[in-house]
Amino acid sequence: MTTLTGQTHHSLIAGEPVPGTEGTIRAVDPALGAPTGPEFTLLGGDQVAAAARAADEAFAAYRRTSPEVRAAFLDSGADRIAEAGEEIVAAAMRETGLPEARLRGELARTTNQLRLFAKVVRAGDHHGVRIEPALPDRTPLPRPDLRRRTLPLGPVAVFGASNFPLAFSVAGGDTASALAAGCPVVFKAHNAHPATGLLVGTALSRAVADHGLPGGVFSLVFGPGTAVGQQLVTDPRIKAVGFTGSRGGGTALMATAAAREVPIPVYAEMSSVNPVFVLPSALTGDRDALADGFVTSLNGSAGQLCTAPGLLFVAEGPDGDDLVARISDRLTAATGQTMLTPGICSSRLEGEKRLAGITGVREVGHGRGGEGQNAPAPAVYTTDAATFAEAPGLAEEIFGAVCLVVRYGSADRLPTLVEGMEGQLTATVHLDAETDTGDGVRELFEALELRAGRILVNGWPTGVDVGDAMVHGGPFPATSDGRSTSVGSAAIERFLRPVVYQNVPAALQPAPVHADNPWNLARRVDGVHVPAEAEKDV
Ligand code: NAP
Repeated sequence: MTTLTGQTHHSLIAGEPVPGTEGTIRAVDPALGAPTGPEFTLLGGDQVAAAARAADEAFAAYRRTSPEVRAAFLDSGADRIAEAGEEIVAAAMRETGLPEARLRGELARTTNQLRLFAKVVRAGDHHGVRIEPALPDRTPLPRPDLRRRTLPLGPVAVFGASNFPLAFSVAGGDTASALAAGCPVVFKAHNAHPATGLLVGTALSRAVADHGLPGGVFSLVFGPGTAVGQQLVTDPRIKAVGFTGSRGGGTALMATAAAREVPIPVYAEMSSVNPVFVLPSALTGDRDALADGFVTSLNGSAGQLCTAPGLLFVAEGPDGDDLVARISDRLTAATGQTMLTPGICSSRLEGEKRLAGITGVREVGHGRGGEGQNAPAPAVYTTDAATFAEAPGLAEEIFGAVCLVVRYGSADRLPTLVEGMEGQLTATVHLDAETDTGDGVRELFEALELRAGRILVNGWPTGVDVGDAMVHGGPFPATSDGRSTSVGSAAIERFLRPVVYQNVPAALQPAPVHADNPWNLARRVDGVHVPAEAEKDV
């Protein structure tokens, strides 16, 4: 089905195309460095306000939808996106330079996330129901009847990143989890992949219509983040923000949200260097496998993954020297891939230049530039632990395939180095599972768990499993709020708040906490977990 046939396209407000009043943009094909695809009109202030108003109006009905209606809508969103899959992948290839296989995988991840949240809605654990029936005879004070559940926050403004044009964009994890929670979404389209965004947004809007939901459940707005995005976050009808992108963008939105008359939460995924620690015992194993795994993880998607390893800690000595030499060999043979935008490519080149200019840092290996424009060579540099601890800026993220190898003398030093680091999405340790069980290794893990959202052993941080147990989060600046995850089913919790009903008569109790349990939810009653009835017809 071809939906982008014309020359000019528009934002979708409550399912309707709205021609913007503030000029147009076109995407840039990063491999050619030239404009590609149709024009997209950019919204003015009144039009952005109309999207927030439509979301606010839709909230009243959408938050009351039954689990089955909301889940069926999310499943339909996945179906509609899958139906448009060929056109979506073709547009994303043009607009991002990412290879087809990667984008097909990301499309599947996107539809799977929507289906995962449909399951979450049907299971209903996110209602967080706790019931404490009245104890009128309790002494010294009687207990009132208490029934707790969660409620959706209200309309959410969502911003996606350029490096995941599907799974962290229009119908990505933030949108899916907000919609599952019962929150309408106004998505600020990413200007680097507008056609991809509109195709996905059109599919999602069709799913809204399929289920007779108010159109304002989903809107997609085009315009600069600094104007349209900022306005959305100041709009009093917007009640929370989901963001994936740069540290600068995320912190700007945090400041805006905090300065409102009524501040709102911002869940921003921003910056992480994802340190990897190779303990001395791991160096005596298969160093070829270590070098292969590292270079693949570093160079995949041109290093444009939020979990790419930007720091590798390797013990000094001949085994460590040998690992670094193997990394250097592989890297020298590696080729750069087209980066997402000319701007991201030039930031990456500047970051590498800054790193290479720091006293005590030297190059370990440099690959070849790729074909076409904006495809810089992957590169690895090295320094010693003392320089790393003292020189400012060595642990700053360079978004792209650039890594710093830090050589350490004793593994006892690692916890102190970790304590000097900022918050991370991931931290990885390569060790010998049989022998590395002593206090020193435990101390390293205790330092890491205070710094990172996910701790891995004998693996590589790129590749994030989407499920119930995943945490894609971590202390600032990995995220703006380390109490949450943006990947996996627990992401729904960001868009909910608890409310308790005290001595509210049964006739007025909402379904999740009603004595009859009409939605057949698992609930905690008087301190005891009561499972849902397997066969109950709801
Ligand atoms: P970006 O430049 O921050 O853009 C993300 C979105 O935010 C865009 O829609 C952008 O609008 C908007 N925006 C940027 N600055 C803004 C501001 N001051 N006010 C309001 N809106 C603003 O990020 P990107 O280029 O898409 O992604 C690359 C970066 O994302 C990298 O630094 C990478 O490390 C990070 N990233 C982090 C994670 C993670 O999970 N931590 C995941 C992926 C990517 P425009 O369309 O107008 O630019």
